Amino acid sequence: MGLAAVAAALAGAAWAATRPATTPAAPAPPSPGAAILRAGPRVAAGPSRLVRRLALRRGLEAGIDWRRSHAIGLPYAGSLAGGVRLPREGVHFFTWDPVLRRSPDRPWRRYGTDRLVRTLLAVIGAYAAAHPQAARVGIGDLSRPHGGDFGPEFGGIGHASHQNGLDADVYYPRLDRRERAPRSVDQIDHRLAQDLVDRFVRAGAQLVFVGPNTHLHGPAGVVEVLIHHDDHLHVRLPAA
Ligand SMILES: [Zn+2]
Repeated sequence: MGLAAVAAALAGAAWAATRPATTPAAPAPPSPGAAILRAGPRVAAGPSRLVRRLALRRGLEAGIDWRRSHAIGLPYAGSLAGGVRLPREGVHFFTWDPVLRRSPDRPWRRYGTDRLVRTLLAVIGAYAAAHPQAARVGIGDLSRPHGGDFGPEFGGIGHASHQNGLDADVYYPRLDRRERAPRSVDQIDHRLAQDLVDRFVRAGAQLVFVGPNTHLHGPAGVVEVLIHHDDHLHVRLPAA
């Protein structure tokens, strides 16, 4: 090998050492495009988490153990046979425990007649379709698994009614769209709350209780003002 050839070989080796990009497997030089590619999995994590959450909520609703229920006796002196448990959350609702002040509501507080659970899902589903930007609606206590007394011994101020699977508490939507009960009436999205009241009336509610400071209204004899209802409405379905 002549000197010129040696020099060329050395130069080539040096060049190869500093320029590994001569091989196809060489790492790409830094570029904005590469940074976006690297961030790819992180960027994709948001939507995929939403998709998983939606699938979970759909699954919870699909898993409802539907059965034929019977409301026995009266809402304030009765019991529930064949109650259906509302899932802890769904596509358009979350549940809220009024005693522990957290979501979800405990399972034994979420039993109603099949008709009550269907009505809640239908009304809230239609509400969500009409207000696609609205947050999910909070549902509180229904009845206990076999109904009966739901007084203060079960926490908080208790319920005089909620005994035969025809009553449900529904929290007013919040202006800040947070998924929790409003703490005061000025946190309530009045327009959305009134729409929920109207929808329950149209769905055939026998009674809707609203709080004295909410300024919510409806047909006399159906929408009634009652103390302790400034953070939620109470809907009662008629006996079948
Ligand atoms: Zn109630």
